[in-house]
Amino acid sequence: MLAYQHAYHAGNFADVHKHLSLFAVLRHLLRKPSPVTYVDTHAGRGLYPLDAEETQRLKEYRHGVASLWAARERLADDPLLGPWCERLGAVQASPRLSHYPGSPWWLSQACRAQDRLDLYELHPSEVSHLETQALPDQARRFHADGLSGLRASLPPATPRLCVLIDPSYEIKQEYVDVATTLQAVSAKVRHAIVLIWYPLLPSGRHHDLLDAVRRSGVRKVWRSELLQHPPGDVTHGMYGSGMLIFNPPWGVDTQLDDSLSHVVRCLGDAATHTSQWWVEE
Ligand code: SAM
Repeated sequence: MLAYQHAYHAGNFADVHKHLSLFAVLRHLLRKPSPVTYVDTHAGRGLYPLDAEETQRLKEYRHGVASLWAARERLADDPLLGPWCERLGAVQASPRLSHYPGSPWWLSQACRAQDRLDLYELHPSEVSHLETQALPDQARRFHADGLSGLRASLPPATPRLCVLIDPSYEIKQEYVDVATTLQAVSAKVRHAIVLIWYPLLPSGRHHDLLDAVRRSGVRKVWRSELLQHPPGDVTHGMYGSGMLIFNPPWGVDTQLDDSLSHVVRCLGDAATHTSQWWVEE
């Protein structure tokens, strides 16, 4: 039985890390007219009102998107954060931050007439929320397992493929399953771009994913980690957010490094960001 609901965490520092990384990749893909298939293997609800009961329970957005929103005038000159905050503004009914958009929304923004968008979600209540979202005509919503749905859909009908894999990792096996799925995608679509999000927890489970990716033989994987606190300061819960990007478009790594240095300053003194090639070309 799935228990995780993203509404409890919407707009937190990990969402900022994940969606900023996604935004950087999408902007790059939009430079060429060649059609793209976007796949979101774990879509969630699509849009999160910040005054929802679940979101108000932990108010994690206050130490995430709200910190950036408060600094948006100062961030306007950053080539990534400036347009990212502008996009975020398009979701708000007033200058007040009232909603946080999830990955289906960020992907929809990049979905042109020639592109496709496949969204997978397994939790019945999240599926019913997702059904209510206005999405482009080419978007397809599947109430199904995202990793097997993705694997079964390969190769895509378009020349380019961009995948976001963002599980809740409620099942520990998911760390290894994600690596196996990346290997399957890279074998069938060599030029695919795959973004994988993972949590940094005191248990250190993410090493199962990282080690499996290294062992898999997949090349060209960039790793970025945004820490809200130093690892030793947290005994339970997430202290950081990790992203792997397979085949990052040229320049996205340095652009994200620059923008995340500004994000770190917004998040407070304890926050840090590091990045490196996890597996080189
Ligand atoms: N990607 C979303 C975003 O950025 O806005 C957040 C996704 S949330 C971290 C993970 C989602 O995966 C949850 O909504 C959960 O219900 C869903 N989920 C869990 N197991 C799944 C599976 N096997 N296939 C598809 N979705 C699943």
